[in-house]
Amino acid sequence: MTEPAPSDDLLDALIIGTGVAGILQLHRLREQGRTVLAVDAAPGVGGTWNWNRYPGARVDSESYTYGYYFSEELLADWTWTEHFCSQPENEAYLNHVVDRFGLREHIRLRTAVTAATYDDGTDTWTVRFDDGTHRRARFVITAVGILSAPQYPAAPGREDFQGVSAHTARWPHEPVEVEGRRVGVIGTGSSGVQLITAIADRVGELTVFQRTPNWCPPLNNGPLTAADMTDLRGRYQEIWAACQALGSVYAAPAHPASDLSPAQRRTFFEDLLDSKRGLASLYANFVEVMVDPGLNREFAAVLADRIRARVDDPAVAERLVPRHHFGVKRPPLETGYYEVYNRDNVTLVDLLEEPIERITRTGVRTAAQDYDLDVLVYATGFDAVTGSFDRIDITGARGVSHRDVWKAGALTHVGVATPGFPNLLYVGGPQSLVGNIPRVVEHQVEFVSELVGRALDDGVRRVEVTQEAAQAWTDHVEEVVDTTLYRTGQSWMYGSNTPGKARAFGLYAGGLRAYVDRLNGIRADGYTGFVLSTS
Ligand code: NAP
Repeated sequence: MTEPAPSDDLLDALIIGTGVAGILQLHRLREQGRTVLAVDAAPGVGGTWNWNRYPGARVDSESYTYGYYFSEELLADWTWTEHFCSQPENEAYLNHVVDRFGLREHIRLRTAVTAATYDDGTDTWTVRFDDGTHRRARFVITAVGILSAPQYPAAPGREDFQGVSAHTARWPHEPVEVEGRRVGVIGTGSSGVQLITAIADRVGELTVFQRTPNWCPPLNNGPLTAADMTDLRGRYQEIWAACQALGSVYAAPAHPASDLSPAQRRTFFEDLLDSKRGLASLYANFVEVMVDPGLNREFAAVLADRIRARVDDPAVAERLVPRHHFGVKRPPLETGYYEVYNRDNVTLVDLLEEPIERITRTGVRTAAQDYDLDVLVYATGFDAVTGSFDRIDITGARGVSHRDVWKAGALTHVGVATPGFPNLLYVGGPQSLVGNIPRVVEHQVEFVSELVGRALDDGVRRVEVTQEAAQAWTDHVEEVVDTTLYRTGQSWMYGSNTPGKARAFGLYAGGLRAYVDRLNGIRADGYTGFVLSTS
C-alpha cells in the first residue's frame, strides 16, 4: 500500500470510511486530480459489507438498485447473480470497483480515526489515527455510515462468557463454527432474522432471545439468469430514473386506498406480498399506510394472518406477532424465517416475559432460567446515525466539540455539514434519506465533490454552514416525520434503541426527489446556507 503523498504534505481531502459512500467519494475526487486519502478501520474495503459478514447477510434493496450508476462500463461488465445479492457478492463488487478505478493505492486500511481537529489559523484539519500517526487535510469528508457502531446489551457479564461470541456487525473473518452447537441469538431485527434463518438447520440447538417481534414481509429473492442480466442492462437508465422518487424501483399506487373496498384492499395487500420483491411492502404500498393508523392495521393484519398460518404452535405464533405499527421499525425481509420456529431444535425466548438478567460463563440468564450455550451471537444493532461520529473526537472551530453539538441529535444543513465545523462534510450521514443509501449517496457525493472542487480551484479556505440553515433543515426533518406514523415508533431511526440517547429522527422521510431538489436548489442559488471564505 502506498500513500499518495508524504505524511507532512497537506491533502486536499481525507475521507473517513471506504464503504459505498467513501469509495464513490474517493473516485470523484481522484477524477478531479485531487490528493486524497481514504482510511478505514476495517481490514478490507466495503464498510457495512466488510463488517457484517454473518451467515445470511444480504441486501434488501434489489442488487441493481443498490449498485453504482456512475459508470456505464461498470454497469455493463458487472453481473449480479441474485435479485438480492449476498454479502460476499456485494463485498466482491465493491472490491471490483476499487480495483477497476485504480483507487486502492489511495486507501489505508486497518486505520481507525481517533480524532480530527480543525486549526483556525491554517483552516486545515489534523486527523489522528490509532497507530499514533496523523495526516493533515484541507477537507475532511466523513463516509462513516449510519449503521456502523455496533451496540451490545447493557446486561452485565458479557466478558464472563466462556464460549464463542460475536456481534453480527463485527463478524470474524475466520469461520464461526455453529454446526451441531448450542447457539443463542439475541436480537430479531434485520440482522437477526437473516442470521437465524441461515443457521437454524446447521446448529444443534438454536435459542432466539426476542425482545420486540418485527413485521417481516417476504424478500421474494431469486436468481438472475444471463437473460435477466441482459434485460436489466437494457433498462438501467429506466431503473435509475424510477429510483429517483423514493430510492426504490417501486412507486405507490396512483389512487388512494379509499378507492378500494376492504376486500379489494386485502387482495391488493396479498398480491403486493406475493408478487413484488424486497421493500415493496413500503414503497409499492398505499402512502396512507405510513400515515393512517387504521390502514396500517389493515395491512398488518394480513401479515399477522400469514405468521399464524406458518407457525405451527399458536402460542409461539402470537409471540412473533408485533404490536407496533408496520414500518415504524425498519421491517426485516424474510425467506423461510417463520418456519424456523417449527423446528424441534429451535426455542423462542420472549424477553418481554423473561428479561435478560446477565450473561454468564455458560450462556444467558433470564428472569426465568439459565440457557447454556456454546456460541452467543449479538444481533443487537447499532448506536445508529450519530454513533460512529461520537466515537471520534472531532473538534471544530474555536475548540467546539462535535459530540456536544449533536448531543440532542444531529444538526446539519441538508445532511452535508454542521455549523462550527468548517471544511467538514458528510456523505451517507444523518438527516438524509430513509431507505436505499447508495441512491442518495450518489447525489450527496456529486454535491460535495463540486463544492470541494470549486473551493480548491477558487482559493476558498473555509466552507461553513450557518446555524440558521442547519436549524431550518433539522426542523424540516422533524416536521416531515411528524406527518407519518414513524413518530409512534421506538427504533434506531429515533435513537430509541440506545439507552440515554436523546430522541431525534436521524433521517429524512420526505423521499429522494424532495431531498435532491433541495440539494440542487442550494447549488443553483450559489450554495444557500453555506459561507465560502477566501481569507
Ligand atoms: P436492529 O434493527 O436495531 O435490531 C436489533 C435487535 O436487537 C432488536 O430485535 C432489538 O430489540 C434487539 N436488542 C437490542 N438490544 C437488546 C437488549 N439489550 N436485549 C434484548 N434485545 C436487544 O439492528 P439490526 O438487525 O442490525 O438492523 C439495523 C438496521 O440495519 C436495519 O433496520 C436495516 O436498516 C439495516 N440492515 C439491513 C439488512 C439488509 O437486509 N440489507 C441487514 C441487516 C441490517 P428491540 O427492538 O426490542 O430493541
